[in-house]
Amino acid sequence: MTPSGPKRIPVTATPAPTPEPRGDTVPGIAHIVAVASGKGGVGKSTVAVNLALALASSGHRVGLVDADIHGPSIPGMLGIVVDGPPKATPDGRMIPPERYGIKAASMGLLRSDDNPAIVRGPMVTKYLQMLVGQVDWGQLDYLILDLPPGTGDTQLTLAQSLQLSGAIIVTTPQDVSLKIARRGLRMFETVQVPIVGIVENMSTFTCPHCGGDSDVFGHGGGEQMSTELGVPFLGAIPLDANIVLGGDSGTPVVIDRPDSAAAVTYRRIADNLHSSLAGSDTAVLQPFIWNWDTGAGAPLWLDGACHPGGNPLIPAGFAKRDDRTLSVLWLDGHSDNLDVRDLRIMCRCAACVEEMSGRPLLDPASIAVDVAPRTITSVGNYAINIAWSDGHDTGIYSFEYLRSSASSRAAGTVEDV
Ligand code: ADP
Repeated sequence: MTPSGPKRIPVTATPAPTPEPRGDTVPGIAHIVAVASGKGGVGKSTVAVNLALALASSGHRVGLVDADIHGPSIPGMLGIVVDGPPKATPDGRMIPPERYGIKAASMGLLRSDDNPAIVRGPMVTKYLQMLVGQVDWGQLDYLILDLPPGTGDTQLTLAQSLQLSGAIIVTTPQDVSLKIARRGLRMFETVQVPIVGIVENMSTFTCPHCGGDSDVFGHGGGEQMSTELGVPFLGAIPLDANIVLGGDSGTPVVIDRPDSAAAVTYRRIADNLHSSLAGSDTAVLQPFIWNWDTGAGAPLWLDGACHPGGNPLIPAGFAKRDDRTLSVLWLDGHSDNLDVRDLRIMCRCAACVEEMSGRPLLDPASIAVDVAPRTITSVGNYAINIAWSDGHDTGIYSFEYLRSSASSRAAGTVEDV
């Protein structure tokens, strides 16, 4: 496919014929999937553990990261006995213990459970990145991340810094819990992490004695929310005392009672996750730090990844068309040529645009005509950051912003300065 506009864009690296269908921040891991919830206590960790085991039971190679730094619960749920520091490779990476066929990493393996970790802000993100990147995972089809509850900075930074293939939102059927889950959903959407779907937990309770159903926390809220928001509904897990017992005893219900309604639902959710990621458009470019002048670290230009109906907000290539022009190829096959000075002027960071009012703070006339990028760096799944020759380096350009401003320019709706 030839980029529209220019005839042929000179690329600074050799395009690979068949792109990987996703980003791959940790070598050997095909998909990193976050399990998130707007608040604690909705059963997020229980879903993460049983989902990981359900994926493993269908033959996938699975790892599980307990990202709940403050209250790590996964070693206990998997019945992993912590009797000393974990083993490490000669280069200092943690060798994750294996249980029921899955590998697990948790802060709970590094310290005893009865001392709650006092870890704040940026350190949390650092620890989490370590639990993903500094662990000897080997080859994995799925790394499931049990995120800390909430939709704050920690979750946002993680979603930005790891190339997540998708996120699953766990909610209970109650209205308040659904409202909170909605916030989580929006957070992932802003950073272009696809929502794989919603899981409703603690749904209908079936009485083991009389067989009658009762909806202790309501019913159908998760499904209704997924319809309203246009994201898939992955399944409703019943309220079941065996789930609690399984978690407490270190034998999760998928292992302990594989024929129970709960275990069947977990496996169905795992199948839904697998088929949804198998066919979805996720990031095709590897993370990059690109030196504009020398071309070192340049991303690829993957014509072969484009297809009609491809996601118009996922780039399949970046290239330096000439000293003044950044070209972007999108998965739907469209390409844009962006003047680099225009990009500098378009910066929407807090130093260039007043956050509350949206009032421009940057005087376009103050930008030199020969301003140029120094480095262009990928940011998670959703943006690039450009460090400029004038020293400005705080601008993040989301793919959505790049695409929409290129279209506005093409339509002549943006004034040149
Ligand atoms: P979170 O990670 O959201 O804080 P947990 O996974 O730790 O929540 O679960 C909180 C409690 O709810 C645990 O005691 C767990 O066993 C229980 N639980 C989770 N899912 C269910 C369910 N479907 N039915 C009954 N109890 C459940």
